[in-house]
Formats: sequence, structure tokens, C-alpha cells
Amino acid sequence: MSGPSPHADLTPAQRLDIAALTAAYPGAIAGLEVADGLVTLVTVSGKRFLYDDGRVKTAQEALDDPDLEDMLAQAYPPGPVSEDPAPGFHPGRRRVTGFFLEVYGHDPGEVSAACRPVRFLDRTVMFNARNGAADALSRVSARLADLVARDPGLKEILYPVVGTFCWRTIAGTQRLSMHALAIAVDVNPGRNPYWRHHRRPSDKLSRRRRFPKEVIEAFEAEGFIWGGKWAEYDLMHFEYRPELLTKSRLLQEDRSERPREQKPGHFSMPNIGKDVSVKCIKK
Ligand SMILES: [Zn+2]
Repeated sequence: MSGPSPHADLTPAQRLDIAALTAAYPGAIAGLEVADGLVTLVTVSGKRFLYDDGRVKTAQEALDDPDLEDMLAQAYPPGPVSEDPAPGFHPGRRRVTGFFLEVYGHDPGEVSAACRPVRFLDRTVMFNARNGAADALSRVSARLADLVARDPGLKEILYPVVGTFCWRTIAGTQRLSMHALAIAVDVNPGRNPYWRHHRRPSDKLSRRRRFPKEVIEAFEAEGFIWGGKWAEYDLMHFEYRPELLTKSRLLQEDRSERPREQKPGHFSMPNIGKDVSVKCIKK
């Protein structure tokens, strides 16, 4: 088995995805196997994940049973939203669940043991401490606290914070929610709707646009994606998916080496604790 560094046998697209994954999950990925044209990611626990399973999938199949290539195929666009995404565009909704179970825990007991309390805005939530997720949420909280201090009106967008750790599937599906792994947080569900429950979908674009860009940026700077960028939107939802932000950054750096373009987003680094019960959102 070779190391996880860029491999001569990989295509540029494969190299980019593998670089994003290994940078985003440094403690979880042991290495890569490249044999007979097949690229396999091997976790430290010894589980193997085929990068490309070779299957041609419908949009639904790519959601229900993605490989790592499918998971990273839709590039997450950092920054504010100006348009509704094309149908089927939902960067981050394709998840290789088995990989995340290896990283964050396989059942409620294991995930619960992996969590630590994180002070997040006005309350304390349980968040997964593996792979830097809880530390990242803590840094988001510090960024948001600064923003709220300057603009108290942001509390209407952010409060109440609900739905962090809750073992469940995504409404209407068999897929495990990332809330089950305690790597997602929902802000003010009453104001920031989820597409299945949104009574006035005609205003979805204006809601995406009105969502404060500084809040989106505070999360993205620490490796979180926003569900407001999905065709089937989830405006309350932020999820720790550093591989997607890393890939976006690498794509931007790659482009900016030729023409002059804006420098990519940043990742920085930590902290805070007390308990509060957190409601489980059904969606
Ligand atoms: Zn959520």
C-alpha cells in the first residue's frame, strides 16, 4: 500500500479528490491502494472504500449509494448565493455513509462517547470531537459571537440553535442524517425552512439570498457547508464537511495559478462547556 500522497497513477481529478479527503480526514485515512486501474481508500481501521465503483448512476442512485467520486463530484461553491441551484445540484448531500461511520462512530453509543460539549452561541451542544469537528464548531461560535455583537439582529437568524446530536435518518429516506453523527447543527428552524416543510417555496430564492453572507462565511471558514446551497434546500442546516471546502479551495488555487483570481477561503484553528437538552428535528 502506498502512502496517501499524490500518486503517479492517479488522474488529475482523482488526485484532487484524494488530496481533499486526506487533508480533511488526517487521522482517519491510512493510505491508498491503486491496482488494475482501481483506486481504493483504506482507513486506519482497515475498512476499504472504492474511489470509483464504475457504476453509471441515476441522480437518485448517486444519493442513495454514492462512491467517493460521486460524493465529491459536485463542487461546493463558497460564498453567498445569487441563484437557485440547478435541479439535482446539492453538493454535500451525497455521502458515503460507511466512511462517516468509520470516522465518527458506528452507533449511538459510540457517537455519544465521541462527543464533547461545545459552547455554541447561547447554549451548550454535544458535538463529535473526532476529526476536529467540535473544535471547528467552537471556532464558528467565536466568529458568530463577534458578528452578533456587532449586529444583534443576527440573533433572529441564528436563535434558537437546535438539532445537533440525534440518531435518525433523513425524512423520507433510509439515509443516515449527519445529525446522527453529531457533526451538523440547525439554526432557527422556524425561520430557515427545509424544502419538504416549506409552505411558500416560491420565496426560496429570496430566502437563500437574504441569509446573511457573513454567517455563511463564518461556517465555511471552519469547514462547514450550508444546506441553503442545495436544490432541495435546508436553510437551517450546517454540516462539518471539510473535504468539500478543501476541494473548493484547491480548485480555486489551481485556477488562480494561471489568470489572476481571488484567493480562496481560509481555514484557521480553537474553544469553551455545560449541558442543555437539544431538540431532535424531524426532517
Ligand atoms: Zn440539519
